[in-house]
Amino acid sequence: MEIQCECGKFRAELTQFPKNTPGRLKCYCDDCQAYLHYLKRDDLLDQNGGTEIIPAYPSDIKLIAGKEFIKCTRLSPKGMFRFSTTCCNTPILNTAPNRPWAGIHRRMYTVKDPHKLDNELGPVKSSVMGKYAKGTPPAGTPQTFDFKGMVTVMPFLLKGKLLGKSNPSPFFENGEAIVAPQILTKEERSKLTDLGHEKK
Ligand SMILES: [Zn+2]
Ligand SMILES: [Zn+2]
Repeated sequence: MEIQCECGKFRAELTQFPKNTPGRLKCYCDDCQAYLHYLKRDDLLDQNGGTEIIPAYPSDIKLIAGKEFIKCTRLSPKGMFRFSTTCCNTPILNTAPNRPWAGIHRRMYTVKDPHKLDNELGPVKSSVMGKYAKGTPPAGTPQTFDFKGMVTVMPFLLKGKLLGKSNPSPFFENGEAIVAPQILTKEERSKLTDLGHEKK
């Protein structure tokens, strides 16, 4: 399975798709929303501010082209490492060093075939962090994590740990991101939250 940015300069191969993925997940959290506001890609949020990701293991990702277009952002000094492209401003994924998790953004899968995910994986499996959603999220969306979210994600993480799927990651070398992350200040981060939310 090949994934790519919108312009096609960045491309990567998922060597174990769809075998090694827990499926389609949707996150309504304020960090995911703030990040897309930061990229000025609100167009990729759904009507409730949701971000869809389809995780893979870092060691199942092989870069094909466009390493020079990778940008890294962290919303705080302890935040996830969020990678995007500089060529066309497409979010790639969120991850962290030595973690069996690469939360690949939906857009990377759908540039060439908008129906790819529906056809290969079916509908979204689990949604989380509904308390940050804008308006009313779909019925059944939990406020934070629920049991369904846990049973979707935990086996994937455990299997990844056991099989050592955290490394090698194309996004880290010796535990450091391959491009220096831009870390947002508290002020920059809180401005993004204000943008994304009506005060409740
Ligand atoms: Zn691009
Ligand atoms: Zn999130």
